[in-house]
Amino acid sequence: SKNITVVGAGLAGSECALQLAQFGFDVVLYEMRGVKNTPAHKTDHFAELVCSNSFGSLSEVSAPGQLKWEAEHLGSFILKAAKEFAVPAGQALGIDRERFAAKVTELVNSHPKITVKRDVVTSLDQIPRPAVIATGPLTDEGLAASLQQHFGDEFLYFFDAIAPIIDADSINTDIAWKADRYDKGTPDYYNCPLDKEQYFNFINEIKAARKIEPKHFESTEFFEGCMPIEAMIDRGDQTLRFGPMKPVGLTNPKTGRYPFAAVQLRQDNKEGTAYNIVGFQTRMAYGEQTRIFRMIPGLENAEFLKLGSIHRNMYINSPKRLNRDLSSKNDPWLFFAGQITGVEGYFESTCIGLLVARFLRQKLQDQSFSPPPRTSAMGSLLEAITDPFREKNFQPTNINFGLLPPLADSIKDKKEKKTQQVRLAQEALRSWSN
Ligand code: FAD
Repeated sequence: SKNITVVGAGLAGSECALQLAQFGFDVVLYEMRGVKNTPAHKTDHFAELVCSNSFGSLSEVSAPGQLKWEAEHLGSFILKAAKEFAVPAGQALGIDRERFAAKVTELVNSHPKITVKRDVVTSLDQIPRPAVIATGPLTDEGLAASLQQHFGDEFLYFFDAIAPIIDADSINTDIAWKADRYDKGTPDYYNCPLDKEQYFNFINEIKAARKIEPKHFESTEFFEGCMPIEAMIDRGDQTLRFGPMKPVGLTNPKTGRYPFAAVQLRQDNKEGTAYNIVGFQTRMAYGEQTRIFRMIPGLENAEFLKLGSIHRNMYINSPKRLNRDLSSKNDPWLFFAGQITGVEGYFESTCIGLLVARFLRQKLQDQSFSPPPRTSAMGSLLEAITDPFREKNFQPTNINFGLLPPLADSIKDKKEKKTQQVRLAQEALRSWSN
């Protein structure tokens, strides 16, 4: 049988390679880390999570929850590994990033059908077809140039920022307390309270801090879901209080009241020795971050394991350049998977890797193309990156209820509506995969 080449052992590439191997295909998987790093990755492990350690909501009546249900139904390897190394994070799927990535690396390395090549792919000419490009938002420059030539147009891009991670021992637990919002579930988060004066001092320091400007700053566009705190503050002094620093539901045991504002820390590894600051992506200079984040009550002695940073995040105009099965309109045996196709998020990227493996199998076995049903979350995600209607102002997207087809009848109750959408999605997906 023919070898299939997969380029990039990130979330999408690892899932895709494992799926293809499970279907019985021989896979050659290229990964450059180990030889060359990206600006955001820290290790040479496959499926490294570069920023937050969360795959988002697991809640049954949520769009991300439904996407996970579907991925589980379709046998996602990445989801299985994530669940195996889950850390407490309320309704979200929080992950011990080290163990998770080590597990995925081990699964891939030990698979008899997968040959791993630690090498930088610098051109599309270098790799045989069929091939899947899953090199992510930080695709290395040589390959990026080759892709640009292949498609004959510029990449689209936006900016993504990373939040800092703190050594748990350095959190002052006399001030920070553990609780979930509204005391739901087990208390998984540390909360740091700020009063009014502390909050505004903090905001003013951030405003004045030195920031790292992206090279293409004249057209800086941030993704709403991963916006740096500075960009949020640009919208108003109170924006953070209604965003990541929202205090409602967080009763400070010392005062019995909600603080004026709060900073939340989420467990980052199984041992609980590392915590990340939730929603605190930033492009402040390193020295400024250390100084300013130590102004947060409870973090006055914080030791930073990793500081925040910002990166250019590129993607293809998929609705214009790719077929519905995510192969190139210029080369039917060249497929794309992951964030480079214009989905946004760890788990969305993973799911595209999973789908492409199925599409490739259909094509190699001469079956007609069968996408996941439009009513499913998978089908909706695929629609969002292939619907020609979107090519004009193509923007990357997370999974959300807005992508699912609206219900024909007029159910008024929001919750009831979502429950219905989830039910329809599950039914549709079940019959597709059978
Ligand atoms: P990746 O996981 O990046 O995998 C691509 C792989 O390809 C990498 O291992 C890379 O080394 C390799 N590669 C690249 N070029 C080559 C080449 N030429 N030859 C060989 N190998 C190559 N999503 C979230 O859900 N939460 C977040 O908090 C979050 N934060 C982000 C922060 C930043 C700075 C960025 C850039 C993205 C962030 N994302 C986040 C978005 C996205 O979910 C991740 O980038 C995700 O890892 C994308 O998965 P992927 O498989 O498409 O790419």
